[in-house]
Amino acid sequence: MPSGTRIVEFDRPDMAVGTHTVAEAWARVNPPLSPQEREFQKDRIRRLLKSRNAVLVAHYYVDADIQDLAEETGGCVSDSLEMARFGRDHAADTLVVSGVRFMGETAKILSPEKRILMPDLDATCSLDLGCDPVAFAAFRAQYPDRTVVVYANTSAAVKAQADWMVTSSIGLDIVSELHRQGKKILWAPDRHLGSYIQRETGADMVLWQGSCTVHDEFKGLELDLMRKEHPDALVLVHPESPASVVAQADVVGSTSRLLAAVTESPATTFIVATDQGLLHKMRLAAPGKTFIAAPTAGESATCKSCAHCPWMAMNSLKGVADALEFGTNEVRLDPALGRQAKICIDRMLDFAAARRRNTRPGPDLAQEQALFSGIGPA
Ligand code: SF4
Repeated sequence: MPSGTRIVEFDRPDMAVGTHTVAEAWARVNPPLSPQEREFQKDRIRRLLKSRNAVLVAHYYVDADIQDLAEETGGCVSDSLEMARFGRDHAADTLVVSGVRFMGETAKILSPEKRILMPDLDATCSLDLGCDPVAFAAFRAQYPDRTVVVYANTSAAVKAQADWMVTSSIGLDIVSELHRQGKKILWAPDRHLGSYIQRETGADMVLWQGSCTVHDEFKGLELDLMRKEHPDALVLVHPESPASVVAQADVVGSTSRLLAAVTESPATTFIVATDQGLLHKMRLAAPGKTFIAAPTAGESATCKSCAHCPWMAMNSLKGVADALEFGTNEVRLDPALGRQAKICIDRMLDFAAARRRNTRPGPDLAQEQALFSGIGPA
């Protein structure tokens, strides 16, 4: 392990309130609804979205019913930043963000004048939980000469300390450019994504040792065996996965990039190493093709996640309806903190705009640029 790294227990963070551990999150997940109850809650949401002038924005990893309802009612299903962009540009006064806490915060940063509601404010993310802002400030203070680059999956309080925020789709390009300028990087919080970018760019990076509880569980050895059983399958891997899994990928990329791959590729079978929630969208995008979840189980696995995020699973139809009806679970953010956190986001947007002017972008960067055209000074 490189010197200067900091080990964190991602599912036992040192925080005082909220849902912290994987087990606690699973304990909060509602049991499945009967078909009648599901229809009742969906009708409730349809009605309340209209009466509250609200729009539903959902992440690819949440319940399939919520994803479908978001699209049916004129909302969106996407990755975290597209969710925030969509919410910012939509005319609705109220955004119901179905995802995890940092997504609600990002929506509030980009739309401070809007009311942001969430089905459950305790739905969080192991990367966010494992990167406590005070501990991060102490870590950062050890490396005053380094450019601070943080992943989107962080709190506003961590983003406020960063020079750059990146997503999984643009992180490689930004770190590559910083490296070209001779800058040394302090990266947080995902160690696997940081290592992947370090390997690809050769940049001098000190890594915070956080991880995603879902992607950390994918197993290289078991994936190798699965590939032998399905020799024609294309392997799609999110870069929050361990290096032994990324090394076997045909496509490494963000959720949007992996989703695009299933329609762009002539392959008919895909092994997918990301949260199983994305498989719903993949099946809709490419009906008739076969999708196999990459293995998390095996001799060395703890199978904490079984390829599904416990905090994403806390999002329920009833939670969406209750938030709308009672106005509960509103995301509140100190405006000064929000403005400070927005600086590192704007820097990323400026970079994307500059690249748009100067290059012919690949699919990921093209999408990133399209998402943020018109934001900030870009
Ligand atoms: S899937 Fe991983 S990165 Fe995404 S919200 Fe859950 S814990 Fe965080």
